Amino acid sequence: MPELPEVETVARQLGALAVGGWIERFEVFDPRLGIARPGSVAGRRIESMRRIGKQIAIELSAGERGSGKVWLAVHLRMTGRLLWRDAAGAGRELRRPSPLRARWRLDRGTMLFHDTRRFGTIRLLEGPPALMEGAIDPMDPGFTAQALEAMARGSAQAIKPWLLRQDRLAGMGNIYASEALHAARIHPARRAGSLTRGEARRLRAAIQDVLERAIAAGGTTFSDFQNARGDVGNYQHNLRVYDHAGEPCARCGGAIERIVQQQRATYYCPNCQRPVN
Ligand SMILES: [Zn+2]
Repeated sequence: MPELPEVETVARQLGALAVGGWIERFEVFDPRLGIARPGSVAGRRIESMRRIGKQIAIELSAGERGSGKVWLAVHLRMTGRLLWRDAAGAGRELRRPSPLRARWRLDRGTMLFHDTRRFGTIRLLEGPPALMEGAIDPMDPGFTAQALEAMARGSAQAIKPWLLRQDRLAGMGNIYASEALHAARIHPARRAGSLTRGEARRLRAAIQDVLERAIAAGGTTFSDFQNARGDVGNYQHNLRVYDHAGEPCARCGGAIERIVQQQRATYYCPNCQRPVN
């Protein structure tokens, strides 16, 4: 499943290609997408494209006949992919065939939404998509150690599943939660509310560091993530614990363990990440 770095990668790459382009046609091939007025998308210019949480927000200019600006909020979910074809139709092919659910024909190329499992969504909105109430983006400058401490205060939930709550850290996902906790040397079953100021500081720094390095590597590819150019990400080669059960910890040489927390796999080093409470 694409997580924050993969979505950021797609938004940046597509933005560089598509922003400034005029949409000549917007075609929806899958009625399950449920877009009420797809015809109202054509004739608008793409003004910006950016990641908000795990969604890609596409800002469109005001339409003809006085209708105001609109936004398309694309959520890739499990297997959604946005790909680009240039004006001559050239672009990378999918690594595996996948249904085409929607297509934007622009004056300078074509944007395609493929989605094997069809859990992805496209919403047509009158403003940019909002994060859940109380949530903060972990790449936001406002996400400080104090903010992390304040959000976690009083929570008896284990820190690993707590990090996945989209009403807390918007966009945080399973792979990077394990990686950040290992980098910060915090046991995944620690109560979120029990973090000390020093641990909150380490964890915040580790979260931003892991996400920044994953964005720089173009994201992580396991099965079929491809970015907007059809390339795969490379961060899987930098993962320290995720999917490394039984292998030696890069820090201490001890064996990485896999546990399940709230139905999700967690990887950690029992030696570097000691339980405290
Ligand atoms: Zn270790």
